[in-house]
Amino acid sequence: MPEDARETRYVFVTGGVCSSLGKGVAAASLGCLLESRGYKVALQKFDPYINVDPGTMSPYQHGEVYVTDDGAETDLDLGYYERFTNSVVTRLNSVSTGQVYDAVIKRERRGGYLGKTVQVIPHITDEIKRRIVELSEYSKADIQIIEIGGTVGDIEGVPFLEAIRQMALEVGRARALFIHLTLIPLVGGANELKTKPTQHSVMKLREIGISPDILLCRVPRRMSKEMRDKIALFCNVQPDSVVNALDIKSTVYEIPLMYQKEGLDELVLSKFGLPAADRDLASWRKVVDIITTSTRHVRIGVVGKYIKLQDSYRSIYDGLIHGGVANRVHVDIVKIFSEDLEEKGKVRRLANLDGILVPWGFGKRGTEGKIAAISYARKNKLPFFGICLGMQLSVAEFARNACKLKGANSTELDPNTPHPVICLMEEQKAIVDKGGTMRLGAYPCVLEPDSLVGLAYGAREISERHRHRYEFNNAYRDVMEAAGMRFSGTSPNGELVEIIELVDHPWFVACQFHPELKSRPRNPHPLFREFIRAATEHAGD
Ligand code: GLN
Repeated sequence: MPEDARETRYVFVTGGVCSSLGKGVAAASLGCLLESRGYKVALQKFDPYINVDPGTMSPYQHGEVYVTDDGAETDLDLGYYERFTNSVVTRLNSVSTGQVYDAVIKRERRGGYLGKTVQVIPHITDEIKRRIVELSEYSKADIQIIEIGGTVGDIEGVPFLEAIRQMALEVGRARALFIHLTLIPLVGGANELKTKPTQHSVMKLREIGISPDILLCRVPRRMSKEMRDKIALFCNVQPDSVVNALDIKSTVYEIPLMYQKEGLDELVLSKFGLPAADRDLASWRKVVDIITTSTRHVRIGVVGKYIKLQDSYRSIYDGLIHGGVANRVHVDIVKIFSEDLEEKGKVRRLANLDGILVPWGFGKRGTEGKIAAISYARKNKLPFFGICLGMQLSVAEFARNACKLKGANSTELDPNTPHPVICLMEEQKAIVDKGGTMRLGAYPCVLEPDSLVGLAYGAREISERHRHRYEFNNAYRDVMEAAGMRFSGTSPNGELVEIIELVDHPWFVACQFHPELKSRPRNPHPLFREFIRAATEHAGD
């Protein structure tokens, strides 16, 4: 087994034909399988866009922003990396064109290039390679899986492809492997599988000097031997390196098991000449079994603004599924567009739910619909879970309706509110830059031992990840406490309210942080576990 970072093996994962083929899940699944064989893995994502990070992008553009413990705002694929493996990601695991250029330009301004002309090759590519090695040195992984965002053929991806081509040459082909994920579409009335797009995509890769070792072919049904042979011949790979990447309908967690059946991990290890010790996938298989065989159902309404986009609340949906695994129930997620609840009487459609979750969000649109849903859950004693903006709105709802503070709101949503129950901290007021200026990353939180959350975590102090600007306004603590709100989690100095719950309610918990970012299928987050438990009890009533 390799002893130091210089011996790390590199698997480079590229994508062809079109986007959304599941490159992130494929990389994470390979990580899961290699880990099950006893290898230490690290996963890294390169995003060719020019933004420094996705923090400034709209959720409609980019989906969820995944926050790391050290406060980086990253691509949601990093969520798959953490959920599918035991690795913990940091800012080193996420690199964008913006970051690479930013570093190179700063170095140039300091005179770091000693009078040279600064160019894409070698300076940008050197910076990309430096970041690959930096992660290997930090993680001490046996195998580092590097996913290149975008599709081969995109102009902006070229420097990354050039960098990994150089890298493979430098470390030697024995330590570098190229995996290309591609699409084999079904075409025409005869429903034939077509290999031509894959041939073209591989040609495009070979034009820049990368010859893939393994092709993962997204297919609706297993390819025939003739078809694999044909792809192998045209794409210059060995026939056994043309791997079926079958469409999976049941659950994304089945994908590592599918790749295992197709022999992907064995293939990768044999190409590296590494031993393939026995796999231990028992805990993973158990998760998939529970998800695919649970017969009891609970219905959870997620009331959000970004519902229309599949990936905006990715980690939250996954957290709910993990909560279902912990309770051996199937969670039916009912996506509710918050603006639809803003008309009078529309909350009635919440009546058949067993629990309501109000997730994170930015801006005013749809917030009154969320408040209506929160009010409904509070009054009807329906299990409720609020996350970030979901907590802030729970505070506003309680202030308005239980404490009679008319017009109470967050100053983000109503700058002239007479009762600014959520407001900006002094430190935030002076900040003008948008990127990376929120309260980001892991912060400690102290719990009241006999509270719902104290019991859920079974711990006195916890650490959770944040991404927000606004905070609870302590001027309202006493009046809200007197009306039945409990501040069951605060920063260690007691200054920042991190969790609220209601005394007179079976399960009403809302937190300022993002618990969904630390939930794992094999280790469901305690708050999701307990929320689903309460919802299951409600369903059984
Ligand atoms: N918009 C709110 C804030 O900035 C909440 C952010 C969030 O839900 N992540 O504080």
